[in-house]
Amino acid sequence: MKTILVDPDRCMQCCNCQNACKDEHCDNDWSPIALPQGRHQFWIQVREQEVGQGTRMKLNRVPVLCQQCADAPCMKVAGEAMYRREEGYVLIDPAKAKGLKKLVDACPYGVIYYNDELDMPQKCTMCAHLLDMGWDRPRCVAACPADALSYVDVDELTWDNMYAPLERLNPEFGTNPQVAYVNLPKPFIAGAVYDPKGDRCLEGVKVKATHMVTGKSWKTRSDNYGEFRLRRLDPGYYTVAFDLCGYSYKEISKVDARRCPDLEDIQLYPKAE
Ligand code: SF4
Ligand code: SF4
Repeated sequence: MKTILVDPDRCMQCCNCQNACKDEHCDNDWSPIALPQGRHQFWIQVREQEVGQGTRMKLNRVPVLCQQCADAPCMKVAGEAMYRREEGYVLIDPAKAKGLKKLVDACPYGVIYYNDELDMPQKCTMCAHLLDMGWDRPRCVAACPADALSYVDVDELTWDNMYAPLERLNPEFGTNPQVAYVNLPKPFIAGAVYDPKGDRCLEGVKVKATHMVTGKSWKTRSDNYGEFRLRRLDPGYYTVAFDLCGYSYKEISKVDARRCPDLEDIQLYPKAE
């Protein structure tokens, strides 16, 4: 199945995709695929989430659109007002969807909007009207200057031609989403290490986080400002260890990575002579 592959790591939030979607769908009637997109709708939207704290906080950006779910809960409440095309795309039939406000709440991804003027729900169509006209990709993909969006055949993606493992957005929703992602944001643990006796930042400290359930570990070293960031962690609790030759070993346990914690300034003391 051809689908959109999203790489949030490459997204620079230029919003070209959002604007291209509006240019394609606002004021344009693409019946029978879709009627003109209503105001205040984002059929693709770069969603922001602040994670971490203080100066070590990070802004995650994830482009989100209809996930073209194989087990689509929207279809279960829509009856004949939604259908699946031959290639697998899930569409709202504008001729049958009048008044179906309940569809908005049926989607756990929050990508169905209600058009009050037309009195009907609306969402991304994968630009099926363009694909039917011979386009090789939807407008948002064509507009992305950073290759954060691509239109791919997921069955052709293998370890040989992919640079990161394929993921799905919120698989816990249980809808079997068909839009693919790589490099989705993951938890991190950040902080800095210093020597309070010598009043200096400590560079080159080995920092190791070990997952308290799975035992899987992540390693890094502090930079010349003593700063460290353990990236792309699995969710869960960790023991974080700090080790530098000539200094006392230190461990902090029960660090909850889901909050992307800032461990702030970690003190390491020189070993006694
Ligand atoms: Fe339906 Fe929402 Fe899945 Fe799209 S993302 S198919 S609207 S449940
Ligand atoms: Fe991100 Fe590409 Fe959309 Fe720009 S066009 S906001 S880089 S996904």
